[in-house]
Amino acid sequence: MKTLEEYITLAAQSHGHMCPGQVLGIRMAMLGLRSIGIDDPVKDRKRLLTFVEIDRCATDAVSVVTGCRLGKRSLKFLDYGKVAATFVDLETGRAVRVAARDDARAKAKAMFPDVADAHQAQLAAYKAMESHDLFDLQAVRVKLKPEDLPGRPHSRVACAQCGEGVNDGRERRVGDRLLCRSCAGERYYEVVASGGEDSEFRIQGSGHKAGAAGAS
Ligand SMILES: [Zn+2]
Ligand SMILES: [Zn+2]
Repeated sequence: MKTLEEYITLAAQSHGHMCPGQVLGIRMAMLGLRSIGIDDPVKDRKRLLTFVEIDRCATDAVSVVTGCRLGKRSLKFLDYGKVAATFVDLETGRAVRVAARDDARAKAKAMFPDVADAHQAQLAAYKAMESHDLFDLQAVRVKLKPEDLPGRPHSRVACAQCGEGVNDGRERRVGDRLLCRSCAGERYYEVVASGGEDSEFRIQGSGHKAGAAGAS
């Protein structure tokens, strides 16, 4: 494992800036890995899986330290809005959930009262604070299905309605048809136009920003 300072440099490069959230994420991951006995996340990357519970700064830092990524299926994002992450050793089954303590912010504020910039003070405090002041730890067990693990897809079916391919059992059975989640009623978007690259759609669509649909 690298040092906190080394991870801070790497995380700042990958995230675009250094911030208190990232220090929290780095320390959270270092603590989590140590707790499950993984000392070299690069060497042990194949046996490591991480669940993150928030899509904010800390998550990018967790990814830098663990090497776990969404595109490798080794990073799982659960939208719970909590600065917390669970680190799983796939080989031993050992897992620990690390959650940032809510009172850490107040403690951090009190630590460097002479630093004028609140952001800098918080960042310095998160570097210096004791782990037990920053985090709560729980030994946990995570049930993982084969279709959730890294590696080749376990299955692929075509949605009976839209025809798009769905991997790894994410389809839904509705009556006697297999549908993608969107066609099964879980659609998070509304189609305003469709077509190929050369269609009208591209020309019409190019002037619009995402989220502006229906606004004018
Ligand atoms: Zn940030
Ligand atoms: Zn579909």
